[in-house]
Amino acid sequence: MRALYKPDAGPGLTMTDRPVPEPTEDEVLIRVLRTGICGTDLHIQRWDDWAASAVTAPLVPGHEFFGEVVEVGAAVRDVGIGDLVSGEGHIVCGTCRNCRAGRRQMCIRTKGLGVQRDGAFAEYLTLPGTNVWVHHGPVEPEVGALFDPLGNAVHTALAFPLVGEDVVVAGCGPIGLMAIAVARHAGARFVVGTDVSPNRLRMAERMGADLGVDVRGDGVAALRAAQGRLGMREGFDVGFEMSGAPTALPALVENMNHGGRIAMLGLPSGPIAVDWGKVVTHMLTVKGIYGREMFETWQAMSSMLQTSAVLRDRIGSIVSARYPARDWEAAFAAAASADGGKVVIDWTEH
Ligand SMILES: [Zn+2]
Ligand SMILES: [Zn+2]
Repeated sequence: MRALYKPDAGPGLTMTDRPVPEPTEDEVLIRVLRTGICGTDLHIQRWDDWAASAVTAPLVPGHEFFGEVVEVGAAVRDVGIGDLVSGEGHIVCGTCRNCRAGRRQMCIRTKGLGVQRDGAFAEYLTLPGTNVWVHHGPVEPEVGALFDPLGNAVHTALAFPLVGEDVVVAGCGPIGLMAIAVARHAGARFVVGTDVSPNRLRMAERMGADLGVDVRGDGVAALRAAQGRLGMREGFDVGFEMSGAPTALPALVENMNHGGRIAMLGLPSGPIAVDWGKVVTHMLTVKGIYGREMFETWQAMSSMLQTSAVLRDRIGSIVSARYPARDWEAAFAAAASADGGKVVIDWTEH
């Protein structure tokens, strides 16, 4: 099968021929139709400090996929040949305290698909049957490939109640854009997105944001001005940090109402300075978000997409480009430009 492969620890990827993996009795074999390119994959391609510390080479990367089940292990239940599926890429141990308590997203021994085991930049992949998410209704292949990052957005957006609340989303990459659409769907009053790319700010407004705020200058002041334009008087109730930029969390802290709640998915590359005095005296909550709740987040995103054509259209529109697998280098370059939406690779075109 064709696969994007990293033969050893170091920069770069190559398109090469690899054996089709064989599923164990607990696993299924999936023919991959689409794979989304994630920031994680760009780290793995570049082989930065994070990749060197977290990634096991040799490796087929990729964890955001949509595909069709073609083989089912003897011990797998509720998944059948021909099922159209996405998959939870965090493979948990099943025996640690959190796993046994049903908090599998908090497993202390998680293995990542396309990070510590061969993943989805290939024509076939294996996955434990319990990690498979079967689509029981119609779903566009591109949207199916978005379920992993959409799950990040939904996990973040539903971390705190949103009905009637004023929400600020720092960072309008694909996951921030999805979080805007979900916050709008879930009943927020005002939704404001921030970014440093004018194109992404326009996309934020198409997702349902009331304002897209350019934070290339003074981000704190720009958010204050946005509050004024919307007639807000006391500060944001809920913030989502989706950028990882070192200035984003401090700007949120300065613009939250007392008792405000911040869900933080963006991963800073090092320690960042925050006015902790303000966190204390304003009684702010800051909650870290990682991955998706297994499998309540999956249930929530399937249900929301099923019941809202507006949300379906908005989420679908986040895929800004689709490349045949042979053009993977151009696809990775487009994803790295950080100026558009989601870039997806199509394994069915030759
Ligand atoms: Zn991802
Ligand atoms: Zn565990």
